[in-house]
Amino acid sequence: MTFTPHGKHLIAGEWVATTDAFQSSPAHGPSYRFSTGSPELVDRACQAAEAAFPAYAASSRQDRAALLEAIADEIEARGADITAIGSQETGLPEARLNGERCRTTGQLRLFARHILKGEYLDRRLDEAQPERQPQARPEIRMMQRPVGPVAVFGASNFPLAFSVAGGDTAAALAAGCPVVVKGHPAHPGTGEIVAQAILAAIQRTNMPPGIFSLIQDGGPATGAALVQHPLILAVGFTGSQAGGRALFDLCAQRPEPIPFFGELGSVNPMFILPAALHARGAELAQGWAASLTLGAGQFCTNPGIAIVSTGPQGDAFVNATASALANIGPQTMLTSGIADAYCHGKQRFEQHPAVREVYVSGSSGRSASPNLYEVCAQDFLAAPTLAHEVFGPLGLVVRASNDQDMTRLARQLEGQLTATLQMDDDDTALAHALLPILERKAGRILVNGFPTGVEVVDSMVHGGPYPASTNFGATSVGTLSIRRFLRPVAYQNLPGAIMPDDLRQF
Ligand code: NAP
Repeated sequence: MTFTPHGKHLIAGEWVATTDAFQSSPAHGPSYRFSTGSPELVDRACQAAEAAFPAYAASSRQDRAALLEAIADEIEARGADITAIGSQETGLPEARLNGERCRTTGQLRLFARHILKGEYLDRRLDEAQPERQPQARPEIRMMQRPVGPVAVFGASNFPLAFSVAGGDTAAALAAGCPVVVKGHPAHPGTGEIVAQAILAAIQRTNMPPGIFSLIQDGGPATGAALVQHPLILAVGFTGSQAGGRALFDLCAQRPEPIPFFGELGSVNPMFILPAALHARGAELAQGWAASLTLGAGQFCTNPGIAIVSTGPQGDAFVNATASALANIGPQTMLTSGIADAYCHGKQRFEQHPAVREVYVSGSSGRSASPNLYEVCAQDFLAAPTLAHEVFGPLGLVVRASNDQDMTRLARQLEGQLTATLQMDDDDTALAHALLPILERKAGRILVNGFPTGVEVVDSMVHGGPYPASTNFGATSVGTLSIRRFLRPVAYQNLPGAIMPDDLRQF
């Protein structure tokens, strides 16, 4: 690896050191010293973002697309170093980080193409009707405009695709909004090298340096100062329900409340319908075990709950899942805090009298192994905490005695990012009954697939009713995510001389 982090913040084109510092806690390799974030740095970054906003908001879509392409190029140019430091800090395998880097540059390029097409502006024109009686109608045009400076919180579980140059940053920069990122303490070196790539792209494309700042972690006071800063007008966040809710509440309590787009996780229930269970229970067990343990289960789309009928075929599914999990060894978790939280989550199941241990394995330090539990539908319905996310490779099988149990379970679900139906033709009637219930519960409904793996496309929804997200009208993945950082403005009777270019030509 040729990259050695210097440990500074990037504030509007300038690398800034502070006297307080923290040491990184890599899964392997050397630990480095990083300057600590603070409310003062937050203020500096937000002031610079606001100063850059008018020029950046007025920049052409072609110029912003060129910036996004340049960021992707600069990330690719640093690819080997990004993978090396990312793998050291997070413990994620190099192949995963290479794939995540491609997704990150792919997202940036997708947004470049998206804004060039111009459809996201949702432009509308109601022509003037000067002859209308009893009153003339004025000409009204409408389009979407950027909201202003946006705060982004780097996520622990996606050091690239949901962090410094991740989906939130790409969407905000595409929209015309400056971005202030609060880096995640789990991967500060990865954040620094990606910020270097963004700075190089800003310089290459002559964009104002104030459009991007990275503040390294400074504890809760830094994050709180960022969402409360009066110049910040929207927030993108991926993380825990507790952290996300605390920041959401701060946004709502501001003198000027702002939208907080939090993606707070989910248990992603999977309903295995009877005909599918009969036809391919063993195959579904293999598939579930693989999806459940992918990336040590540290995906917000991890399918933590499978709903399966009682009886011998359901028993065979449970046993086959346990056998498949037994073949999967321990994996390194992203942080020791996440590994501790996994152990605590496991205890919740072990201490519950109605829960049966199907397959349990030990964990130590930052390494975690899979676990599988089972509970009947009635006991699950009576114990809401069993439906809470355990971040890691832990599965719960809920046994349903009949179709009514399945629909009751679906009705009681909290908001989810995804819900999955494993079904065959003979399951159509039950699937038909479940679909309208699941539509109200989840942002994405899958049939005969597994929810890990989120396509970055125009039609993707990665969101859902609370607590999956704090804003059910939004997605944090795909081109629709740009809408989070836009605001419709109507322009009535504007003369051509002052009309924005985008409003004139369509
Ligand atoms: P987190 O604790 O929610 O932290 C995410 C970010 O928010 C960090 O930058 C953190 O900064 C900040 N933050 C949290 N609470 C805050 C508060 N009260 N005030 C100000 N800032 C605050 O998430 P995490 O560190 O990534 O992982 C912890 C747990 O979150 C995991 O065990 C897992 O359960 C869950 N998680 C879920 C998902 C998902 O996609 N569902 C993804 C990642 C994590 P500081 O570190 O400085 O406090």
